[in-house]
Amino acid sequence: MIVRIEVPFLPPVEYSPNWRGHWVEKHKAGEVYHDAVFYCCVDARNREYRISFPLVKAKLNLTVVFAEPRLRDQDNLLTRFKPGLDAVVDSGLVLDDDVEHLEIGQVEVVVDPERAPLTIIELDEIKKLEGQKMVTAFDTWKCHICGEERPNGKISVLTKPLIINGQACGEQNIRYCNDRPACIERAKEFSFFEGRE
Ligand SMILES: [Zn+2]
Repeated sequence: MIVRIEVPFLPPVEYSPNWRGHWVEKHKAGEVYHDAVFYCCVDARNREYRISFPLVKAKLNLTVVFAEPRLRDQDNLLTRFKPGLDAVVDSGLVLDDDVEHLEIGQVEVVVDPERAPLTIIELDEIKKLEGQKMVTAFDTWKCHICGEERPNGKISVLTKPLIINGQACGEQNIRYCNDRPACIERAKEFSFFEGRE
């Protein structure tokens, strides 16, 4: 099963080995990219109920969509992706980014002005934790507002855009009790990333 995360940003050029500039700029660019990847990963985790996270061993494929063709080597691209890789781990999708836990698969550059800028992260689970059970059927859902496990029919989903630094960065899906006025009301205001949007 593959988890696919799309982030409408490019890995920061400031992280490429030949970039020359001030470290403050580099740090800032890394932070913006990290946060964007992080939020998109958290949303993917919330949506993907068929998989238990973190993945114990996974393969990561990276595709970066640029608007125009330029010579870029793939090693450079991975170096540029570092803040994004940290975010994948921070979001709890994978256990760690060392070789024990994460294998780097394909690193691909695509030129497509229609879709750029875009980072596509694919995580393929290659090993499960021993004794870890796959969840196959889901009769209950956890309400994101009151935190209670409720039967399927009592939970509704509200989909909202996720805005980071003024840019739409995917969606967030908020589950709430459709029979509890307090949950219905609160869901309208609720965001997973309150205060950071
Ligand atoms: Zn509730």
